[in-house]
This record gives sequence, C-alpha cells and structure tokens, in this order.
Amino acid sequence: MKNTFRFFVEPATLRNDLVRLEDPALAHQLSRVLRLNPGDQILLLDGLGTAYTLELTALSRKEVVGHILAHEPATGEPDLHLTIYLPLMRAERFEWALQKCVELGASRFVPVLCARSLASERADERKHERWQRIVREAAEQSCRGLLPAIERPQTFASACAQVNQASLALLLAEFDGMPLLRTLLRTYLTTTGNPNLTSLALFSGPEGGLTPDELTTAVDHGIMPVSLGPRILRAETAPVAATAALLYELDNRSAVA
Ligand code: SAM
Repeated sequence: MKNTFRFFVEPATLRNDLVRLEDPALAHQLSRVLRLNPGDQILLLDGLGTAYTLELTALSRKEVVGHILAHEPATGEPDLHLTIYLPLMRAERFEWALQKCVELGASRFVPVLCARSLASERADERKHERWQRIVREAAEQSCRGLLPAIERPQTFASACAQVNQASLALLLAEFDGMPLLRTLLRTYLTTTGNPNLTSLALFSGPEGGLTPDELTTAVDHGIMPVSLGPRILRAETAPVAATAALLYELDNRSAVA
C-alpha cells in the first residue's frame, strides 16, 4: 500500500473498529492539505509493527472518524537494528541528518554532546519535541513500519558506556590509519561467522571533529574506529553516508516486497 497516506498514531486509539482521533493537526492535513473526504482510505500505524486500513467516515476541524477495514503487519523495516549516536551540531545540520537517517532505515537515535559540540546546541524539551516530529514525519514519508526512537542527549563517555547492547559498534573517525568501513565489516562478518548482524551502533563527530581523547574512550569501550575514505565529509554527511552503506551491505530485506 505504498501510495496510501500513512500516519503514526497512539496504539490505544486503534483498540475498536470505530476510530475517533481528536487531532486538529491531522484533521487539517487530511481535509485541507490532502483534500480527503469520507469514503477515502488512509493507513494508520501503531508504531509497534501493525498497519490499519481506515476508511474515513467523518472529518471535522478537530476530529477524524473512521472504521478499520483491515490490519496487517507493517512493512518497510530493515532487519538490522541500527542505533545512530548523532553528535550535537548546528540545529539545521542535525535535523537534516536525523531526517535522512530515518528515511534510510535507522531504528534509534541518541543525541551526543561531544567535546567540540557547540554549547548553543544543548537540547531542551522544545527541541526534543521538534526532533520527535521530524522523526515521525520522515518515517511516515518513507513508509517505515516502526517509529524510530529519539532518546535524551548523552555525553560522549556515557554514550560509549551504553554500547555493549549492540552486536557491533563503530566510530566514524577522520584520523589517519583507520581501517575502511567496508574492510572492517567484511572481516567482521567472515571472522565472526555471523553473517546476520542484527544490531549495530554508529558514532561520529561534530563540526569540529573528534578529539584524540574521544577516540581513546571509544576504543576502551570496544567501539571500532573506521574510515569512510580519504575525503573529509561534513558532520551531517558522514552518518548519512555510513547509514546508507551499512544498510546496503547488511539489510537482507532491502529487496522491494
Ligand atoms: N569541518 C567539517 C564540518 O564542518 O562538518 C568536518 C568535521 S568532522 C571531520 C566530521 C565528523 O565526520 C568526523 O568527526 C567523523 O566522525 C566524520 N567523518 C568525516 N569524514 C570522515 C571520513 N572520511 N572517515 C571517517 N569519518 C569521517
């Protein structure tokens, strides 16, 4: 159902066949922006893996009403759970990287306060709500089946301490002498005899780059530094390029169903 309008909603709103969504923003989008009418169908996603086909029966300024015609497992999820430890950087660059990594298939985001992250980039409640909206809209637009999570910001050291949950943890490092991402991945897959990597954590640095101390901290926590090649990418480009490469290499479900 690629060409049906998709919206993530609270799972509790989908308990009964008759659905009432008191959501003026959604009502406005359906009636005024998308110009939908009673009888039209949309797809509601509970964010937990199920997609519901809803036939609209009424649209008012504040409310969307409809009944569920069918439900099925939501498609569009990679089988690699990728966590992006996204360095806090200038707002528009951070938000661009966030949006692109959602489109590409990342499952979880942890904003990271790095040594060279600018103080002005610290996050407050309003910023976190804005990030959540960017994630939701990008997930709806890119036909994701699950709603990626965006956590509260962490310092670099506390983020590194978290990674033992992932099967593999990588740091995009602009320093000389780092192994290429492709080489390390292929060596890892062949030496571990584990062709089906299920979870991966990806770190990278802000505009000012990573400090040697951060490289040491990462390595001390078993995070492997890798290079994306001789060209130095901008802080927002590097995690996006690596996400595309990792899912291309590791996502067995990338074939269009
Ligand atoms: N000054 C530029 C900016 O304003 O964005 C670049 C800063 S820095 C190099 C950005 C971060 O991207 C680095 O800390 C690293 O994590 C990642 N990065 C960029 N190019 C890379 C490369 N060729 N290999 C590995 N990581 C890279």
